[in-house]
Amino acid sequence: MAEPGRTPAAPHLLRRLWGTKRLRAAALAVCGLLAAGSAVIARPQPPGAQGPPPASRPCALRQVPGVAMSEGFADPPDNGHGREFAPSTGTVRALTLLVDFPDAKAPYSARERYGEFFPAVPEWYARSSYGRLRYESTPVLRWIRMPRPFAAYGIGRGYGWDAHTEMMRDLLKAAGTSVDFRGYDLVNILVTPNAGPPADESVLSVTWTGASAATTDDGAHLDKVSLIYGHDQSGFRVLAHENGHALGLPDLYSADDFQRTDRLAGQWDTMSLDWGLQGDLLAWHKWKLGWIQDRQVDCVTAPGTRTYRLRPLETPGGTKAVVVPLDATTAYVLELREALGNDKDACRQGILAYRVRTDVDSGRGPVTVLDSHPRTSACDFSSSTFNGLNDAPYAPGEGWKDTADGLSFTVLPPDAAGDWQVRVTRR
Ligand SMILES: [Zn+2]
Repeated sequence: MAEPGRTPAAPHLLRRLWGTKRLRAAALAVCGLLAAGSAVIARPQPPGAQGPPPASRPCALRQVPGVAMSEGFADPPDNGHGREFAPSTGTVRALTLLVDFPDAKAPYSARERYGEFFPAVPEWYARSSYGRLRYESTPVLRWIRMPRPFAAYGIGRGYGWDAHTEMMRDLLKAAGTSVDFRGYDLVNILVTPNAGPPADESVLSVTWTGASAATTDDGAHLDKVSLIYGHDQSGFRVLAHENGHALGLPDLYSADDFQRTDRLAGQWDTMSLDWGLQGDLLAWHKWKLGWIQDRQVDCVTAPGTRTYRLRPLETPGGTKAVVVPLDATTAYVLELREALGNDKDACRQGILAYRVRTDVDSGRGPVTVLDSHPRTSACDFSSSTFNGLNDAPYAPGEGWKDTADGLSFTVLPPDAAGDWQVRVTRR
C-alpha cells in the first residue's frame, strides 16, 4: 500500500497470462503480477448503520490489508461508481476505444474489431451475474491513431507503469475533444491486433487499477483501464477476464510458476485460464460481486454432520454454495457445476470443491481446487498440459476427507427435484 499523500508508484498491474495451443517454454517463464505493491487511497466511511449480519456472513471472510486483490470481502464494499473498483451490480458503464499506430495501421474496420468482443462480453456478464450486472459499453467506432509508432512506447511483455502513463497521455491528445471520458466506470482499449507480437507468442493484455494514469482537462481519470492486444484462442473472454480485474477479482493462475495453475484453479474460473472449457466464475467470486445473495450460501460454522442441497451454479436460483470457514483467512467452498450457460462446454459435472485464502496475493494461488481424481486429467482442450483439474468435480458416491482441517464430505445421489446433495461433516 502507498503511504497516505504519496503519489502511487505501484498500481495494480494485472496481466493475463498467455493462452495458446502451442506451449512455448519462453512464454511460460514470463509471468503476471509484476508490481508487488498496490496503491490504495483511503476508503470512504460506510454510509449509515447496517442491520444485523445474515447467517452466511461469518463465512464472508474479510479482506486482508496489504494483500494484492485479496479474495476477502471489503467492508465497506469497494465496488461502485467512483470507488476503487467498478460497480459489480446494477449498471457498469464502459467507454470502449479502438487504437492503432502509424507503424501498425489497422487492417480492418474498428466496427469489426469491436464486434470481436461486443455484445459477447456483456452477454457473458449477464449470464454469469444472473442479470444482476448490466454491462453498457459506449464505443467510439473509429480507429484513434496514436501520435507515435507502437515501438516508441516500449510495450512488451511486462511493460511498466511509465509506459502505460505515456500511452494514456498520448491517447488523450489523440482523442482530443471528440471523446468525452466523463461518466464511465472503466475504459476498454482494443488495440489493433497487428501491433506487437502475435498473442500466442506473448500476451500483452493487461488491466491497470488503483491509480490514475492520466486525467482529462475536465477531470476524468483513467484509473480502471483494460487493454487488449492481439488475437488468441481466448476470443472475447480475454476482455471478460480483464474486466474482472476492474471489478476487483484477482488472477488465479500462478504468476511465478505457470504450470502450477494446473494444480490451483485450472479451467474452473475465467480469472484462472480464460480459454478453458468451464468458462464461468466460481461461486465465491459471484458472492463477492453480489450476484449470489447471502441467503443462497449455506455457512457451516458449527461442528456436526448435515446434508445440503445445491443447484447448478450456471443458472439462477437455489443454494449456490456451501462454505466452511476454517479461520479468518481460509474457507472451503462446495458448489455444483454443470454443462450449462457459461459452462456449456464443461467437461465433467459434479460438486467442485476448493479452498480460498484471503491472505494470498493475486497471481500467487489464492484458490486451490480439490481434485477428486488427482492422478488423471480429462477433456484435453488447449494442450496436454492444463487439463489436470478438468475431472476435479466429485460425483455421487465420491467424497473427501481432510483429517488436518477436520472437514469431510460425501456426494449423495440427486434428489427427486434434481438438486444435488452433499453430506458435510465438520469436526
Ligand atoms: Zn489477469
